[in-house]
Amino acid sequence: MALLEVEDLHTEFRTDEGVVEAVNGVDLEVAAGETVGLVGESGSGKSVTALSILGLVDRPGRITEGRVEFHGEDLRAASERRLRELRGDELSMIFQDPMESLNPVLRIGDQIAETLRAHRKVPGEDVGWLESNLLGNFVPRRSARARYPESWTQAVELMDRVGIPEPEQRATEYPHQFSGGMAQRAMIAMALSCEPDLLIADEPTTALDVTIEAQILDTLGQLQDDYGMGVLLITHDLGVVMETCDRVAVMYAGEIVETGSVESVFADPAHPYTRALLDSIPRGRKGEENLEAIPGQVPDLVDPPEACFFEPRCPYAHESCRTGRPVMYEVGPNHEARCVLYDSTDPYGPGVLESEGLSVGGDTEATDATTDGGERDQTTDGHDPPEGGGS
Ligand code: SF4
Repeated sequence: MALLEVEDLHTEFRTDEGVVEAVNGVDLEVAAGETVGLVGESGSGKSVTALSILGLVDRPGRITEGRVEFHGEDLRAASERRLRELRGDELSMIFQDPMESLNPVLRIGDQIAETLRAHRKVPGEDVGWLESNLLGNFVPRRSARARYPESWTQAVELMDRVGIPEPEQRATEYPHQFSGGMAQRAMIAMALSCEPDLLIADEPTTALDVTIEAQILDTLGQLQDDYGMGVLLITHDLGVVMETCDRVAVMYAGEIVETGSVESVFADPAHPYTRALLDSIPRGRKGEENLEAIPGQVPDLVDPPEACFFEPRCPYAHESCRTGRPVMYEVGPNHEARCVLYDSTDPYGPGVLESEGLSVGGDTEATDATTDGGERDQTTDGHDPPEGGGS
């Protein structure tokens, strides 16, 4: 059994313009010790998928359909209290901007020690009901170093573990005294403080330069090996996916359009969107002056087309693409793409592939659980990027 199983997840946002289905039938699995990359442009629904998994979608958003299981437990049926227990303990998340996530008026060491105390029983340092529910947020506290020496010691050890130099000293400092890279390391220390089974990292290195990015990813990889946790890595950076992930799922306009092992997807990208994304990576080749851009726009998802969402931008678009929403087709071992080019019954698909010199690459069997026998899904609803809902 996978550590995390997501099936047919739908999350919508009600806006003045209409209902936006930001996540539209997402299927996803993460196994223990595995790193899965969730990749796509900004607004493709990656972050909303992560927030939906953690039960953190706020109004006007709501999950309307789907199954989210963690260790076999149905998270959609779990109470808010149970979700709070899981979050930060067995399930952790690192957000894009560490400065937004850290409390500016608490020392870094205190913040990590608080997380430890809240989720792990440290002898003699239990969190009382009054503190955890009321006073903790309002009453100025003395440093955990004085009140909770064991938690403080563990916090300092964690800071050392994630590569923060002089951790005893840095633990006494405030977030504004940390650089972006050090703040992200502090966030990683906090996220890993309870040795979670699953870590969701949402663009953890976006704000960092490439050297710090490499260090952070390296640190995450080492900690993953040590703890054996599964990682869902959300990123728009295909280079990061290539370096760090075992499997990848490519998202476009709220849907997964291709999924497979990193080797198969990068060596033989099947979906035209994945190919376009890979073509847009700067390779530093001599004479390469302009980056390839993907022409056109993401469709208006308040009033989505009854067609493949990528059709207006797709160089392989043909008549079949406009007659309904494609399902997932198997294009190779454990490699699927949401594209009618791989539908063996499509009168145009194989011809288009041939004329482009592309191979089907595997059995062209429809695999979308929501459809039957390769029929295209004709039941689309409203879709749209959420207001401020992340990517
Ligand atoms: S279904 Fe058609 S439009 Fe969509 S990605 Fe495939 S070829 Fe392009």
